[in-house]
Amino acid sequence: MKLSSRGSSRLKSGHVWVYRSDIVFSDGVPPGAVVEVADERGKFLGTALYSSASQIAIRIISPNKVDDLLGLLRKRIQNSIAYRGLVVRETDAYRVIFSEADFLPGLIVDRYNDLLSFQVLTQAMDSEALRQTLISELGDQLKPAAIVERVDPRVRELEQLPARASGLVHGEKSNTVFSMNGVRFHFDALVGQKTGAFLDQRENYAAAQRHARGEALDVFCYQGGFALHLAQQCSKVSGVDSSRSALEVADRNAALNGREVEWIEANAFDLLRDYADAGRQYDTIVLDPPAFARSKRTLETAMRGYKELNLRALKMLRPGGVLLTCSCSYHVSEADFAQMLREAAGDLRRPLRVLERRGQSQDHPVLLGVPETAYLKCFILS
Ligand code: SAH
Repeated sequence: MKLSSRGSSRLKSGHVWVYRSDIVFSDGVPPGAVVEVADERGKFLGTALYSSASQIAIRIISPNKVDDLLGLLRKRIQNSIAYRGLVVRETDAYRVIFSEADFLPGLIVDRYNDLLSFQVLTQAMDSEALRQTLISELGDQLKPAAIVERVDPRVRELEQLPARASGLVHGEKSNTVFSMNGVRFHFDALVGQKTGAFLDQRENYAAAQRHARGEALDVFCYQGGFALHLAQQCSKVSGVDSSRSALEVADRNAALNGREVEWIEANAFDLLRDYADAGRQYDTIVLDPPAFARSKRTLETAMRGYKELNLRALKMLRPGGVLLTCSCSYHVSEADFAQMLREAAGDLRRPLRVLERRGQSQDHPVLLGVPETAYLKCFILS
């Protein structure tokens, strides 16, 4: 498959995606095919997985020729597992395979204690041969009690893949208890957002616990990831989320750990405004909102949202208090996020120190040539 000069220079700069508009010729290439990619002059650039539907038409899987794709898949799975052995500590829940960043574009695998959950994001990864190899290799390597496939119907629609239901593909078990940094959580593989918990925040939970004290507020708390870590240190913890079902699990998680946390079902923007106006004060505040900027176009509105939240949180922070604030939007750069925080602090004439500048946990590696793999920003300020 031939690429335009823009497509080839993107690959030469280390990225692994090529957009459809940068492909010179793709007629007759079947959906999900493994293709050899060349520049305009016919020079070989790598082996890629092709999607006939996505705007990202090509995802490089190797800079070399590949004649045993299933063997390569097994090897990559083994490498991903070995890497986690080096970087994952104090938990039995972590991301085992992170798509491009593990050289397996279109595949996500998470582990929750004895359960594995996987998600396929592209036509190529959905092929029966790849799925069966994946399931057998994960089974051999990690010996899980069960493996669950999680389906995002929107992803399948965009990839023009036939609808499929989430469900067990190996074993019988679909819920378990996992632990992170000594805190325990319920996991139900067949309900919940994303693939279950927010594993990318695991190391930030531990950091939050190190800095936390006094009265704490966890805003956008979901199932209590931060709140339950804060509860190890703080005299009182409140968690806020708009999702009742998330708070129900959060409450069961608190009971599992023998902790008291106040769970508040509310729109965070309204609650912060009311609490700030009422003069409430906290020693520790966590802000971990959902991705506000889903595209470049919505960046400006997103930045206003981030600023409003951070401004209100800072107003409620006692002198010497700690704010841990996150953004998981790839489109918001770390520099943009820092600038927004500077403006919020400036509006309040409150000098702030950066105690820590953090990102996603190491089981979500960053591929240098693919900036999209570095998405989580986390600042701890005081
Ligand atoms: N901090 C959590 C993850 C947060 S994900 C953890 O570490 O596990 C974002 C959460 O924001 C979701 O639980 C979602 O229900 C909630 N949410 C989205 N919009 C909201 C709003 N306007 N007010 C309150 N919660 C909201």
